[in-house]
Amino acid sequence: MAERADLRNRINVMLFHFDQRLGPRLLFNVAEIQDTRITASLTRLMDFNFLEEMKAIVNAMANVVYSSMFFSIPNPTARGGVEQFMLSFIIFDPTITEYLTISSLEEEMSKIISNLILLSEMFIIITYSNPVLEDFPEVENTLKSLRDNAINVFQDIFYGQFEGTKDAISQILGKIGFEAGKQIVQELRIDDEGSVKSYTEALVNSPILTRWGNINILHFDPGEKVATISLDRSIWTESLGVIATKTCAFIEGMLEAIFSKILDEPIICDEMRCASEYSYVKDCIFQIAPGGGSREIIAYREDQTIKEMGVQEREKTMELITSAIGEQFYYELDPMIRLIQLFNKAPFISDHFIQESEEEVKFLVVCNYWRYPNEIMCNSCEKWIRNSSKFPVKLVKSKHRICEITYETESQ
Ligand SMILES: [Zn+2]
Repeated sequence: MAERADLRNRINVMLFHFDQRLGPRLLFNVAEIQDTRITASLTRLMDFNFLEEMKAIVNAMANVVYSSMFFSIPNPTARGGVEQFMLSFIIFDPTITEYLTISSLEEEMSKIISNLILLSEMFIIITYSNPVLEDFPEVENTLKSLRDNAINVFQDIFYGQFEGTKDAISQILGKIGFEAGKQIVQELRIDDEGSVKSYTEALVNSPILTRWGNINILHFDPGEKVATISLDRSIWTESLGVIATKTCAFIEGMLEAIFSKILDEPIICDEMRCASEYSYVKDCIFQIAPGGGSREIIAYREDQTIKEMGVQEREKTMELITSAIGEQFYYELDPMIRLIQLFNKAPFISDHFIQESEEEVKFLVVCNYWRYPNEIMCNSCEKWIRNSSKFPVKLVKSKHRICEITYETESQ
């Protein structure tokens, strides 16, 4: 479970109005980190279909989960006799607990809506083309109180119940998985007198483990007691789908028990990336490392794994381009098309937008690696894009998940 301040930074509260002529229109976005591009992409992903009066709809897209509720205020002068609004509560990068808890916000959202309905400011706001929240203190206080009350709901339920950084449900699943893993190594007999590596291969390919998904050992060094494991078609991600958070804590615990037994010392297993986090991620990656190491050593190993993964994904991007387009043809393409292809094919880029002007072309790129320290992948990204596209671009990393990649059009 996240710290209070961190949770606050990840929450947005949005209020929309349904204009009779213009359709849904964003009135306000209450967010600690204000960024017009993030607001714009959030507005884009909002689902205005399937709305029912005063009934919350929970949805997950990429690394965002949100709950929306539709409501009307009677207005005799409006067409249809009502003004219609939508209130949305959004969390970036939710934990499983946060994802599940957002469903229980319905009551809190209803309360806020019953307050909003009574505010005369609501009729004034909709007459402005670009209303400023500070000018409407009653609405501002009401929307901000939703954020504060929601933080309290999250904190009351889960905060402080468990030590460590994982959310409560993941911790419980991890513990159950660990017990299951202990049972598996106790009961399973594998007739293999060979090396630790071949024994482990045989173990992960046994039916008792493959029912949880297809496990592959990408890298295993029994001497160093480190391994990288991939899992595709995880039973957890297959059944839960993309819910913007890691879901394989059970497997994590199970692998931890199994590898502790194989390596004959307590090791730790960490799911670095999960197919439930993003729609374009196809497999989950687990890292095995000695448990006795200090937090710094463990963090260093995690960084190394992410780095390796990033390098592989960059190579994969070019392989995909070569097989889909052909290398020679790719380099004959217009620079803009070349960059679009690069961003489309890169497994770690979840979305990109183009802003074109006379002087320059600017790409706003949403990348999976934004959450890691700059030196892990980001510092070399400009170089990677230049080398891969063979085109001089400039890259600026913004403070919040979006990178700006520009090139001057006159330099062509
Ligand atoms: Zn997973």
